[in-house]
Amino acid sequence: MKLPNIAIDGPAASGKTTVARLLARRLGLVFLDTGAMYRAVAWLALKNSADLSNDGALTDLAENCDMRIKPDDGELGYALELNGLDITARLHEPRIDQNVSAVAKVSGVRRNLVQRQQKMAENGGVIMVGRDITTVVMPEAEFRYYLDASVEERARRRYLELQQQGESITEAEVLEQLKERDYIDSHRSDSPLYLAEGVRRFDSTGKTIDEVVEGLSQECLQLLKGIG
Ligand code: C5P
Repeated sequence: MKLPNIAIDGPAASGKTTVARLLARRLGLVFLDTGAMYRAVAWLALKNSADLSNDGALTDLAENCDMRIKPDDGELGYALELNGLDITARLHEPRIDQNVSAVAKVSGVRRNLVQRQQKMAENGGVIMVGRDITTVVMPEAEFRYYLDASVEERARRRYLELQQQGESITEAEVLEQLKERDYIDSHRSDSPLYLAEGVRRFDSTGKTIDEVVEGLSQECLQLLKGIG
């Protein structure tokens, strides 16, 4: 029996990754954060001092890297190895936040990562999170959600996370960076982020993560029961 797949998209810091990780644990599905894969290519590009405006160079990096994501009990819920090196802890550094959208708008990079993602989901039982999961990677997923929150609330959440990590940045700077990343992600020509027809929008503004997880898991459990 093939388990269903769940696709979740949404803008930066909308809570989708935390929600998906908890939902995966609750439902016994595999969690895959596709943002981590784009972040890994951005990390590699910065490490190699690649020209971020050179689409061919970025595509080569994506095509020729050995990327492995394994479930992990740590806070993120996964560990990412790139060319044999565990770079999980590096993926959310501010310099990656600032450059990842430039890397992610390159069609060659997207083509390669989308192929890898579709392969990981081919047997079902995956909760995948990103920007184009409901529209490009798994438009046929049994459940498709768009998780949203106001940009001010998202900036506040991200600012608190960065503070905990000891980063010195103001909330106003985080807000500006989020707006810029949202703009690039939703205006790029290849696979922009948008709320597609048939995708359920959930607004988490003013809600706790537990409330959102509870709402989504009730719906998904119904479907899993129907299948089982
Ligand atoms: O979700 P997260 O904020 O970690 O994603 C980092 C960046 O990766 C996004 O801002 C976006 O540019 C890119 N991304 C994407 N498509 C996905 C997942 C992430 O373009 N499916």
